[in-house]
Amino acid sequence: MGTAPKSTHVVSRRMAAGLGVFAALLGAIAFAAWVFDSARLKEIFGGYAMMKANAALAIVAAGVSLFALAALPRESRRGRALRLGGGLAFAIGALTLAQHLTGANFGIDQLLVADRGTTPDLHPGRMPRVAATGFVLFGLAVALVPRAPAWCFWTGFAANAVGFWLSLFVGVAFVLAPDALYAFWWSARVSVYAAIAFLALFAGVMLAVPDRGWARIVMTDKLGGVMARRMLPLMAVLPLAILWLSKRGAEAGLYPDPLAEYLAAVALLIVLTTLVLVASGRLNVLDAHRRTVEKKRQRAHAAALRLREMSETDALTGLANRRHFLDVAGEAVGAAQRDGRPLALLMVDIDHFKRINDTFGHAAGDKALRLLGATLKESTRRADCVARLGGEEFAILLPDATAAIAQDIAERICRHAATIAVLDDAGRSFGMTVSIGLAALAPADRRPEDLLERADAALYRAKRGGRNRVETAPAQEAA
Ligand code: GH3
Ligand code: MG
Ligand code: MG
Repeated sequence: MGTAPKSTHVVSRRMAAGLGVFAALLGAIAFAAWVFDSARLKEIFGGYAMMKANAALAIVAAGVSLFALAALPRESRRGRALRLGGGLAFAIGALTLAQHLTGANFGIDQLLVADRGTTPDLHPGRMPRVAATGFVLFGLAVALVPRAPAWCFWTGFAANAVGFWLSLFVGVAFVLAPDALYAFWWSARVSVYAAIAFLALFAGVMLAVPDRGWARIVMTDKLGGVMARRMLPLMAVLPLAILWLSKRGAEAGLYPDPLAEYLAAVALLIVLTTLVLVASGRLNVLDAHRRTVEKKRQRAHAAALRLREMSETDALTGLANRRHFLDVAGEAVGAAQRDGRPLALLMVDIDHFKRINDTFGHAAGDKALRLLGATLKESTRRADCVARLGGEEFAILLPDATAAIAQDIAERICRHAATIAVLDDAGRSFGMTVSIGLAALAPADRRPEDLLERADAALYRAKRGGRNRVETAPAQEAA
């Protein structure tokens, strides 16, 4: 891809790489504690159970593979090699799980380090089923999630999601009900640090692929992403905090024990609905803002359109003005020459207009100009461009019209113009005639001005010839 990665994506991958390093460190310390049989290191993991040596090694391998997935180029040699850590974790997990399920002993539990009875287990050195399952799921996720085919990604995604929920199940149990967790055969003697490492690993896999799956929704600068990033941490912490507090309250004798769950449920209802309301309120504000901006944009767009129309229009008649006519004519000349099609131009000038102004007044003259403009528009097709060039001078561009067709149109205009009756303010009625100069496109014409000049010369001849008539410019004048 040539485009620069989005900043949210960069952050997402960095977080994933950091989680990989964090998990690997956790595993490395535990592994060192086993190898060196160090009481100091083991104290770090005080509390419930210590993760087994195999589990610690698998977590290191998994953390390294997550770092490679998030931080190293997908196709690089180093990236591929380090991602094999996921395969190692998968192998350790799968073999352990097979031992649990079949009752066989492959001799892998104490292959690296002897388990000298730190925990009174049936199988010394063997990690619990839930941890073995976690490594199998993680290995699948790391191998499949970076692959392009949709089924690969979604299979890896599903493995990762199940793994994440499993580690959530264990992690939450440590906060709320560790005894119940250890009484459950599937999760017996799982270490709290393994649960933390697994949470980091599975969350990291999602963040390492910010353009797909859940991370795609969260790691974006769009509104939903911003909202999700603000809400998710609260949503993750609040239920735990509320349940933990309600238990502590019962233990401290504030209320009878059965009331703890009830109180927690009510508190959760209140807190979560409040959160949703606050978030919705924020969204409403942002949406109102967005609508205002959109309305402003529409108004600006309309104003720009109006301005453009005004800059192209003659205010008195509503016809095209000279500048717009020259633009349109310029394009029409180019297109007609390119396609070898005919094009004609008429120059229309009111006869003795000065006399009209002098006799009936300037306002009546304006009225005559407006009426003639409307008549010209009605006498032509939609594709023809009718313009007022200035004063009592009009021009009409006739695409696809030969000299003969243009002649017919011009004569029709002469007849129509002669039928116009104008009323002045005093109620006097008067008429008008027009003279028309016609020029048809010649092979040498390049600019609209070439046509205009010949039409103007023809118009001059029409005036000299007695007015109220059409004169056509001879084609050879172009040469
Ligand atoms: P000819 O038949 O030779 O064209 O004679 P004419 O009187 O029409 O030509 P001339 O160019 O001498 O006069 C044009 C007149 O048009 C002069 C000017 O006062 C008038 N005129 C120009 N613009 C406007 C306008 O916007 N409104 C009005 N009422 N008159 C205008
Ligand atoms: Mg005139
Ligand atoms: Mg004139």
